[in-house]
Amino acid sequence: MEFIDLQAQYRAYRADIDAAVRTVLETSRYINGPQVADLEKRLAEFVGTHHGVGFSSGTDALLAVLMAWGIAPGDEVITTPFTFIATAEVIALLGAKPVFVDVEPDTLTLDPNKITAAITPHTKAIIPVSLFGHCADFDAINAVASQHGIPCLEDACQSLGSSYKGRRSGALSTASAVSFFPSKPLGCYGDGGMVFTDDDALMERLRVLREHGQTMRYHHAVLGLNGRLDTLQAAILLAKLPHFEAELAARQQQAQHYLTGLSGLDRLRLPVIRPDCVSVFSQFTIRVHDRDRVQHRLAAAGVPTAIHYPISLHQQPVFVDLLHHQEHDFPVAAQAAKEVLSLPMHAFLARDQQDHVIESVRKVVMSE
Ligand SMILES: *Cc1c(COP(=O)(O)O)cnc(C)c1O
Repeated sequence: MEFIDLQAQYRAYRADIDAAVRTVLETSRYINGPQVADLEKRLAEFVGTHHGVGFSSGTDALLAVLMAWGIAPGDEVITTPFTFIATAEVIALLGAKPVFVDVEPDTLTLDPNKITAAITPHTKAIIPVSLFGHCADFDAINAVASQHGIPCLEDACQSLGSSYKGRRSGALSTASAVSFFPSKPLGCYGDGGMVFTDDDALMERLRVLREHGQTMRYHHAVLGLNGRLDTLQAAILLAKLPHFEAELAARQQQAQHYLTGLSGLDRLRLPVIRPDCVSVFSQFTIRVHDRDRVQHRLAAAGVPTAIHYPISLHQQPVFVDLLHHQEHDFPVAAQAAKEVLSLPMHAFLARDQQDHVIESVRKVVMSE
């Protein structure tokens, strides 16, 4: 069993993907080929925003939005410590200060009630993360952001296909950044990302920033990036897009099967999905106190698992050196890092494989 089976996915879509790649090879439009604009348009429609701007990765998509907003040394940007490094990395790379705010105990997303206390005159933006596919509480977070006149960037790298109160992840705040890393809900076969926004001026700036700050060929108005989305990756994503709704439906069924099959175990906390949210379950992450023992026993039973994430960002060496936090500064995140365990989750996970995961987890957790 694979934690995420990319081989099975490729086998299922092989004809479409091979044809899409061949088209790019035969036209040699490797940079800014027509597939990029096509994908931007289709995904913006899917998400429900006016614009999509392709980037070379989710990280560059996040970085470019902060650059477009002029984030610079002396500025502060509020975010969660319980996320992949990239969310806070882009803030620090611009010389600004990541200001962590602890997460909610059930969804492990940014706690809106703790944001106001972290705002200072230097706060320039908020980056909530829709973690494991569960959207942060955007109504509450947007209210704080607008009260202070600052923009909000959804890190939607794990949540394309999720929704919040009937709106899609990616369309919940001023802008959002999505990743097409192979293991994400909609993955390409390399690196890729996209920004979604309704803001015309931001869209224009992002297009300039991703091409070395170029406004006309070899005229560079601002410092930018080599941040374009590859035509080949856009073509692969276009080939996969018609299958995406079916994958989302399969993930919903699998999540329900896990939630039912793993219910009633005191020692295990199942993921919580708010009534007004649909999670794409980019990870199906349970919580157990003796996580490392459970993980070893599951590995012995042939069940691959992963830990997202073993260290809260405020305790990562790079940020200890920069920000000097203590473990107890963000107790919910610090505790989650000790307990989280992600189970195999992908659209091609067979029912008998999932049943084996469920049986193994029940056995291991009950044998404590
Ligand atoms: C994957 C991920 C990123 C970075 O995306 P890349 O495409 O790998 O650069 C950023 N934030 C979160 C929460 C992620 O999961």
